Amino acid sequence: MKILTIGGGAREHAAVEALARSNVEIYSVMKNMNPGIEARAVKVLNTNEDDIDAICDFAIKNYIEFAFVGPEAPLAAGIVDALDELGIKCASPSWAAARIETSKTFMRELVTKYGIDGNLEYASFDDAESAIEYVKTVTHKVAVKPVGLTGGKGVKVQGDQLKDLDETIAYIKEIFENNVGGGKVIIEEKAEGEEFTQMVFTNGTDVFPMPLVQDHKRAYEGDVGPNTGGMGSYSDADGMLPFVTEEDREKAISIVKDIISALKAEKCPYRGPMYGQFMLTKDGPKIIEINARFGDPEAMNVLTVLSTPFAEIIRWMTGAARLKTVEFLPKATVCKYVVPRGYGVKSEPGHTISLDREAIDNEGATIYYGSVDIVGAKIVTGTSRSIGVVGVGDTLAEAESNCEKGLSHIKCDAIEVRHDIGTAALIQKRIDHMKQIRG
Ligand code: AMP
Repeated sequence: MKILTIGGGAREHAAVEALARSNVEIYSVMKNMNPGIEARAVKVLNTNEDDIDAICDFAIKNYIEFAFVGPEAPLAAGIVDALDELGIKCASPSWAAARIETSKTFMRELVTKYGIDGNLEYASFDDAESAIEYVKTVTHKVAVKPVGLTGGKGVKVQGDQLKDLDETIAYIKEIFENNVGGGKVIIEEKAEGEEFTQMVFTNGTDVFPMPLVQDHKRAYEGDVGPNTGGMGSYSDADGMLPFVTEEDREKAISIVKDIISALKAEKCPYRGPMYGQFMLTKDGPKIIEINARFGDPEAMNVLTVLSTPFAEIIRWMTGAARLKTVEFLPKATVCKYVVPRGYGVKSEPGHTISLDREAIDNEGATIYYGSVDIVGAKIVTGTSRSIGVVGVGDTLAEAESNCEKGLSHIKCDAIEVRHDIGTAALIQKRIDHMKQIRG
């Protein structure tokens, strides 16, 4: 089986490692040179990940049969539709289906139209004046989001990044003046609670859930600082999270299933992994965001413990094969991202990273390269998240400890890590917060 993977981050490296455990030939397209993916690929095309012509040409020349797209930008550019036309089966959504992520308005309107649970009050605007008028009149706190893609960094929430109404208005003006995320804005009701991620695999009709994961968006320890793409995440051996009940999880899965059915009814069936980000509130899970792909970092947690061959899941998602079950090892995982100094505000890239891969493996941890490049014989940091370190263990405590031991073998003079992720103290804080929210 010849498979093309698109993307050069840690999420894609995790996907490539999972594929490498199946007996497949991997071809990769990426804009950077990810050493982990390069090591596994038969051939690499180094180009922009939304360069459709170059990618199609590469796929044809190499007789590619299946494709898997990691990041959102190529999905938004319609790469799946283009590969589909060439007869290449994609385990990722078409342009139309990917609107569930690429347009936050499309997602909210779909959920409203089909009466799906977990929606939040929202309104979207094409001009700053109307948006400002709206935030002046609503009585609840709000989240301000550019409608289009912003790499997880465009959202600001009242009481978090936005102190008061003045700051909220200033941010709305900034979005329109700088044309952030397409220069349209969606204002959502702020949901209060604890966030969690429920991802699923789907072939457009059937769904296999993945273990629950909790990400940490804030740049700094103690959950403060700017929102980032995610600084790290954890998952537990039983697939649950310590503050989520079975009922909450069932609800989240049924919301994602309803969205997949709604997309099918809209004649844009969705194939691939789907990512549901939820806020667990006193009234149950509310939808924060749906993504048309794996989450990053969450992909690293689940793919590390995926025991069903990923290639079989890919074939099933494209419609080319049947699949009875998707299984995961009963192990906890803790992922902490090594990021360049300044990440979240202004990254300082270009610093050499040295690491001892064998020593990391021996600690019960594994690494996935992210935004790094190879310069000469050295690995240097890029502007985004550099390396995901995943500790694996029977318990969260063991996984967290193995992750830290793994991190001790990575050296660089300009990196940062949120060491609090997956610690007993931070997890307890989440449990206590949820108890307080539920009353
Ligand atoms: P997003 O890019 O939509 O995932 O948003 C980034 C972060 O902003 C989320 O992880 C949440 O912490 C926060 N956020 C987004 N929307 C809301 C909302 N409606 N209520 C509360 N927090 C939100």
